[in-house]
Amino acid sequence: MPEGNEIHRWAERHQAAFGGKVIRADGPQGRFKDTDVIDGRKLLRVMAVGKHLGYVFGKDRILHIHLGLQGDFTEGTGPLSEVRGALRLRMWNAAAIKRPVAKGESRRHAWYSDDDGTNNIAPEKIAWVEQRGPMDCSIYTDAKWDKLRERLGPDPLGVDGKGGDNPARAFAKILKSRKAIGELLMDQSVIAGIGNIYRAELLFRARLSPFTPGNAISEQRLKAIWKDALPLMRAGMADRRIVTTVPRDRLSSKGNTSKGKNTQKRPDKDEVHYVYRRNGQPCFLCGTTVEKREMAGRNLFWCPVCQAER
Ligand SMILES: [Zn+2]
Repeated sequence: MPEGNEIHRWAERHQAAFGGKVIRADGPQGRFKDTDVIDGRKLLRVMAVGKHLGYVFGKDRILHIHLGLQGDFTEGTGPLSEVRGALRLRMWNAAAIKRPVAKGESRRHAWYSDDDGTNNIAPEKIAWVEQRGPMDCSIYTDAKWDKLRERLGPDPLGVDGKGGDNPARAFAKILKSRKAIGELLMDQSVIAGIGNIYRAELLFRARLSPFTPGNAISEQRLKAIWKDALPLMRAGMADRRIVTTVPRDRLSSKGNTSKGKNTQKRPDKDEVHYVYRRNGQPCFLCGTTVEKREMAGRNLFWCPVCQAER
């Protein structure tokens, strides 16, 4: 599932591509029946909070999209592609689709791990986007959007990615909860936008056991985790690959005597995370086998030594 970094990135891209322009829309699959609410209207702005996108077409005309586990966008230049698959929604710029297609530029976005963010279309060149497999794609009133916002915890990428929302509400909830921090971080009503990758990696970077109850964690420690999340998630917006390891901890830089010369090098794919999907492999720091267990419906990964329960 895309995490907050990707959702905010979509918001920025779609704002740059379509913001302030009249947008055409249709729903070839037939499951999105409200295209007439937005078709032919100007897209005023694109909002993102947590894992939710909101395309504002006027009062009580917000297109809400939650990608869920399966949802994804395809984007392209030039004329619309032939309709293929369960295509929930298409949005396009009528003038831009008259331009010729730029070779190799129309494509589905691969999952983050297969796509390092290079060779993407410049956002202002996007002529159309296709949306498939969302958990939700529906029209929200302003009140419904506000309600959603109230239901969601603060977002580390809030305030347009600059500084994040005020985390006080999240801290208060965690500090009085007996639930495990690994569960709390996935709860969107506690913190919005953190998903499975950031959960695992933030806890490792904090050397905190995912099983620690919220009420056993100091506020200072929570502040440090929040502070760590901001630049990490922002970096994940620019580079679709979420990189959480620091160069000195990567095996490829160990034993390298070129004095940090390779610190600018993009890390290898299997060195971008400390524990996420590294179960059965040795921890980069202590060599202990990284473990995996299900928590809050998703696989949790952690190092039992670096993140020992205290
Ligand atoms: Zn370890």
